[in-house]
Amino acid sequence: GTPAARLARRARQVVPGGVNSGQRSIPGLTDLVVTGTAGARFRTADGREFTDFHAAFGPPLLGHNDPDVARATEEAGRSLGHMGVGITEGEVHLAEQLAELIPSVEKLLLTSTGSEATFHALRVARAATGRRLIVKFQGCYHGWHDAVSLNVISAPEKVGGHDPISTGILPEVLAATLVLPFNDSEAVRSAFAEHGQDIAAVIVEPVPHNVGALLPHQEFLRTLREETTKAGSVLVFDEVITGFRHDLGGWQRISGVTPDLTTLGKAIANGAPVAALGGRADLMDLFSTTPGAPAFFAGTYNGHPSVVAAALATLRKLREEPVHEHVFRLGDRVRRELTALYDRLGVPAVVTGYGSVFVTYFMPGFTPDAPPRTYRDLLANDASLFVGYRRHLTEHGLFELPLNLKRSHISYAHTDADIDRLLEGTEAA
Ligand code: PMP
Repeated sequence: GTPAARLARRARQVVPGGVNSGQRSIPGLTDLVVTGTAGARFRTADGREFTDFHAAFGPPLLGHNDPDVARATEEAGRSLGHMGVGITEGEVHLAEQLAELIPSVEKLLLTSTGSEATFHALRVARAATGRRLIVKFQGCYHGWHDAVSLNVISAPEKVGGHDPISTGILPEVLAATLVLPFNDSEAVRSAFAEHGQDIAAVIVEPVPHNVGALLPHQEFLRTLREETTKAGSVLVFDEVITGFRHDLGGWQRISGVTPDLTTLGKAIANGAPVAALGGRADLMDLFSTTPGAPAFFAGTYNGHPSVVAAALATLRKLREEPVHEHVFRLGDRVRRELTALYDRLGVPAVVTGYGSVFVTYFMPGFTPDAPPRTYRDLLANDASLFVGYRRHLTEHGLFELPLNLKRSHISYAHTDADIDRLLEGTEAA
């Protein structure tokens, strides 16, 4: 076979499913051998070049391999390496900037992944309240750990063919998790009326981007704030996707609703493995490496100089260049023109999303002005329409989210010409 085919075969020998990212079971993708990335494109071992609208599930908001971020990472690696003890100026500077930008963050800890950040958020909420129950919402994903990987997707094939309900979750953990419908304030009020004094935390993706984009009702987020405040529970906004991709202040600045704790990741370092948990000082101060502390905390790679440098370089660019303006303009264009195109073609589809994230649901009855708002709405999605569509786009060098549900991402490196190509490719499909 070709060198690429040989590599794919070797991969299957030593890596379960042949790939270490999250694309194990997607036909045609496990053999995708990527050899280079730059800006809005990537190249494969068999010599193809793709315009990438998947963007690694979202982190590279500046585009792949941003030269400024790459330079900063390399310099920090050369001058600092990894110490694991002591303070570096970079981590202090990063924490200061995040605290300045995110309204609810007074103090902040760095972790390596979003999963750790959400895990520690729930731990500290339990430590602070002495309670057990966690409330989460249908369709929201918070990473891979027992407490919240439970997703309760009743028809996974409708919304992406994956269901992060893990086998192996302890019954005790399931019993300590209440899953409520997103955007349903009444369900939240009832849950608090019944269990309020047992609820340690409510965790929510302000926009459940892991099922595409369900835009929150303002009043829903306000209800979460009111009920948690009344009951003395901790409100956690999981802004691993929404933070920095949409706004430097996160969805909390967009919505005006202030959580107690916030998790960040993905776009904060343009794809380098760094995430963060921040929030109210009295909660964050429970984290300590002092034995017997309410929330003992440590991590070998936390605050690694190279990824901190990547985050600082990313933030500088997000603050100094019109990144959000650019991606919002292209995102609005895609939503408007794709919607019009599907309309003209008579395809029952609605293109929704926010800012740089656009999502196509193949179902009738919704418009960009009246988009799907609940997980239940998405059960009308006809994923089979997407499969053929994606095959066609791939043949045309356009790469979109390899799930049935298309959460696609625009980066600062995309141009109007890339959008033209996407529209042409879609029309031809
Ligand atoms: N929270 C949200 C909202 C996410 O989208 C993700 C990742 N898709 C996570 C947490 C977990 O982050 P990580 O993959 O870095 O562990």
